[in-house]
Amino acid sequence: MLRVHSIETFGANEGPGIRLVVFLQGCPLQCLYCHNPDTQPCDPAMGRLYSNEQILELLEKERPYFIRKGGLTVSGGEPTLQTPGLLELFPLVRERGFHAAIDTNGVIYNPQVNALYDMTDLIILDVKHIDDTWHRKLTGGTNHGVLRNAEYREKSGKPMWLRYVLVPGWTDQLEFLEQWAQHFAGYTTVERVEILPYHTLGVHKYAALGRPYGLEGVAQPSRHRIEQARRIFAAHLPNVIVA
Ligand code: SF4
Repeated sequence: MLRVHSIETFGANEGPGIRLVVFLQGCPLQCLYCHNPDTQPCDPAMGRLYSNEQILELLEKERPYFIRKGGLTVSGGEPTLQTPGLLELFPLVRERGFHAAIDTNGVIYNPQVNALYDMTDLIILDVKHIDDTWHRKLTGGTNHGVLRNAEYREKSGKPMWLRYVLVPGWTDQLEFLEQWAQHFAGYTTVERVEILPYHTLGVHKYAALGRPYGLEGVAQPSRHRIEQARRIFAAHLPNVIVA
């Protein structure tokens, strides 16, 4: 069983092709820019339980639209908080010929998560800051697990996409962009790098939850800053796109 926050059918931005995107409830981080803060609480009263059969049924309904590339993406919140459930679901998903992806912040690193990575066709890894002090300031957690998970995936030889949210004053420091790109420059498994310019679409949710918004007053990055980041990444990494 999985505790699900919401489900998007026909998702087009969470992996290759058309995807069924399952957003799980609960996240160990509190990113200042999180546009889905309602997914963060690990509260058993929140979300709705889905059995493997229910998710497989949804996948079967969308099968004609997946063609060769599409499939299931599990996102969040943070999917690896529910690794035991995913270790049961993913073999069933793949037995039926569906492509399985995880969109993860990578902070949880342990043998169970290693096993989950091994049965996942594509890992979409959000590496939110290369500098640990800034990562902690931005997310409330260390990046140690993130970098270990990236290394584990690289050693496995299986594909990975990297994601980076570009936030003015927080993640657009040139020296750290350069360090980020150089860190992954030798990786052979990185198929694509997505730069996600910061936006404020989820801000109203904080007011609804009665929580202060940590990036009040931060503007969206200028075209110039986005292009600067893209060039730095593209100098070291393949297939860099601005999403
Ligand atoms: S990892 Fe994702 S879901 Fe969790 S707090 Fe950060 S942005 Fe929100």
